[in-house]
Amino acid sequence: MATLFPPPAVVSIPIKHSQSTFPVHRIYCVGRNYAEHAKEMGFDARELPFFFGKQPDAILYVPEGETGRFPYPAHTENLHHEVELVVAIGKGGSAIPAAVALEHVLGFAVGLDMTRRDLQFALRDKGRPWDAAKAFDHAAPISAIAMQEDVGNMSSGGIWLKVNEQPRQASDVTKLIWSIGEIIEHLSGYFTLQPGDLIFTGTPEGVGPVRRGDVIHAGVERVGELRVQVV
Ligand code: MN
Repeated sequence: MATLFPPPAVVSIPIKHSQSTFPVHRIYCVGRNYAEHAKEMGFDARELPFFFGKQPDAILYVPEGETGRFPYPAHTENLHHEVELVVAIGKGGSAIPAAVALEHVLGFAVGLDMTRRDLQFALRDKGRPWDAAKAFDHAAPISAIAMQEDVGNMSSGGIWLKVNEQPRQASDVTKLIWSIGEIIEHLSGYFTLQPGDLIFTGTPEGVGPVRRGDVIHAGVERVGELRVQVV
């Protein structure tokens, strides 16, 4: 039987130096994965990694050198930027040991985990899910994917974000509390990973608000850069 209406288009992201694109299956995000960011959110102890999600169609792909348009969402007066290293899964699996996890990684991208911070705190304080704070339309701006074979395993590399070219976030992925391999081990214990999954690995300290008209410029060393204007 025919579908009642056309099924939604598959969201896919270009891969650098490739004619193929990366069709997105799920978007997972890691919470509080840099110590200094956990502190600025009011937390001080090392916890097991925890995860939340965004819908694949929250992706806002922006080609390098262009400025994407990020619509300021409703129901917030405190929209925050969070720059993150994004892991693109190329080979699925469950219960993947950290020691072999990088074999499941196709590549990496620069992503923004855009957050309605006021809503997040209100939901958090009531013990409610974070979806309205994290998973709204366009909440996941992202760059093209750089292949792991081209950029290495990203166990180190600068990660930064500027607003109107003023520095806001600057750190290094060596400061991840849970490494990429450890994240994959934990996440794949809860969910069967599939090719096409994206993992936002957490943001360093320096998150803060943006307003309409601001230009967010973010990057991860070797991986790429991403620029959006809040409109
Ligand atoms: Mn985040």
